[in-house]
Amino acid sequence: MARGVTRMSDLFLRTLREDPADAEVPSHKLLVRAGYVRRVAPGIYSWLPLGMRVLKNTERIVREEMDAIGGQEVHFPALLPKEPYEATGRWTEYGDALFRLKDRKKADYLLGPTHEELFTLMVKGETSSYRDFPVILYQVQTKYRDEERPRAGILRGREFVMKDSYSFDLTDEGLAESYAAHRVAYQRLFSRLGLEIQIVSAMSGAMGGSASEEFLAPTETGEDTYVRCLESGYAANVEAVTTPAPPEQSIADKPEAVVYDTPNTPTIDTLVAHVNTLGLGREFTAADTLKNVMVKTRLPGSTEWSLLGVGVPGDREVDMKRLEASLSPAEVVLLEDADFAANPFLTKGYIGPVGLAKNGVRYLVDPRIVTGTAWVTGADEHGRHVVDLVAGRDFTPDGTIEAADVREGDPSPDGAGTLVAARGIEMGHIFQLGRKYADALGLTALGSDGKPVTVTMGSYGVGVSRAVAAIAEQHADGKGLVWPREVAPFEVHLVIAGKDAAQAEAAETIAAGLAGAGLEVLLDDRKASPGVKFADAELIGVPTSITVGRGLANGVVEVTERATGERREVPVDEVVGALTGGR
Ligand code: ATP
Ligand code: MG
Repeated sequence: MARGVTRMSDLFLRTLREDPADAEVPSHKLLVRAGYVRRVAPGIYSWLPLGMRVLKNTERIVREEMDAIGGQEVHFPALLPKEPYEATGRWTEYGDALFRLKDRKKADYLLGPTHEELFTLMVKGETSSYRDFPVILYQVQTKYRDEERPRAGILRGREFVMKDSYSFDLTDEGLAESYAAHRVAYQRLFSRLGLEIQIVSAMSGAMGGSASEEFLAPTETGEDTYVRCLESGYAANVEAVTTPAPPEQSIADKPEAVVYDTPNTPTIDTLVAHVNTLGLGREFTAADTLKNVMVKTRLPGSTEWSLLGVGVPGDREVDMKRLEASLSPAEVVLLEDADFAANPFLTKGYIGPVGLAKNGVRYLVDPRIVTGTAWVTGADEHGRHVVDLVAGRDFTPDGTIEAADVREGDPSPDGAGTLVAARGIEMGHIFQLGRKYADALGLTALGSDGKPVTVTMGSYGVGVSRAVAAIAEQHADGKGLVWPREVAPFEVHLVIAGKDAAQAEAAETIAAGLAGAGLEVLLDDRKASPGVKFADAELIGVPTSITVGRGLANGVVEVTERATGERREVPVDEVVGALTGGR
């Protein structure tokens, strides 16, 4: 990294006094106002010199920690042919998020959203025997995703920088080791970036807790919701939370199912109130009702939609993100009026499991709906509901599905306590892919016994450009950015407060001394008022600043720590030593 003194009179920088109109989150406002990034189009940003310095520092830290676990850096093009992605099915599976384009010969290309296919093919081309493994390859590269909701500046871009690495092993134990090495590297690199991180399980229980984990930066503005169990330390992305099934109940002692007229009961609340007037000798709540939400699903590449009924206890909502995760890679949308019109057997507002079964509609239920449980639910006729419809007696679902919302206070899946919820930004993802890509693309190695072994892979991502925004999100105050030292664009911000030639001269000497000791110095030598200079220094957020002002007459300068606001006077000829600690 170039060391030295940058003069603000030369720096290509214009700070803004106003927040950009389109900015929703603090990091976006500050990065634009302080002159780090500029918007070109939705989700597409340019980096100005200050931003480049932080981005490069971030990349350097990521590279150092990848190198430390034996990763070897490579680089792939962003412009890629369709064929490898067709072989794995992702050309279609990726859906609208993939930027597809054609060359002049009308051949299909894409802008890489992630590079599993290319890494697999590269390793296939360069290796042959078990002796070539294990190997970890990585790149720091620009990715393209046509995100549905690009937002919050560089937090969610349509063009963004990602570090992606892939491990190639011959055994499951080897994969587990590569995964563990990445986990440690990620903990180190995020800590160096100054990011507070919560590691959460990203895979539902069935696959084993550690097969996929996300590194989230906890913040209110995050798009990911995760839950934690304070008693056990369990933490998971909401999409990965599994619902513990209650014990099955006896069917024999359940009353018969009876259909009642329930006029004007379009909502769960009105339904519960009505059922409680029927004089059934029990008090019903929303949790006794079974809500059936109708969706349609479509497999990637298919044009055909299939109906699906999703049953959840009436005191819960269907969480579309959880439903999508459960049905992935199939696409899922709620039924629209036209779908109801095309399927007249669906009586909107009164749909029940019996009618769905009669009409051959697949029906999946929340895991709480176990054999022997009795429900108030739709009777498939307008204005009518059925009471005591018993699972395993009156209806048999086609299976269970994780679709109901997860709430604070829900039991932890590990049985240790209850869950609390929080929000975060996904900063990294580590994932044991296994043999999916190696199978699809024929990546094998000749084992020591001469027999081919299919390679097993891991895939690991870090949002590098997103990290810059997340750091800004976690390290800022009302006045501006507050960069952690390792990523800051400069280490010292040196302000010449007055017009006095002696101040300028002293500042030049200090700057030269700091640069000589290897520090990056930003020298504010502009002909601006001290107020403007101090406001810019706080906005830009360099960790330490030195003000050369009136105190110089008494032989002192002022040193300010941006993070704490702590100020101290230091003799002018000691300030370099004080800041470099004898470097
Ligand atoms: P998200 O759920 O936020 O869309 P993802 O699950 O699609 O993320 P991965 O495919 O695992 O993300 O990508 C690896 C990393 O790249 C993520 O952990 C995140 O830090 C970063 N990333 C993903 N999409 C974007 C984006 N649109 N803009 C900036 N960074 C991104
Ligand atoms: Mg995404």
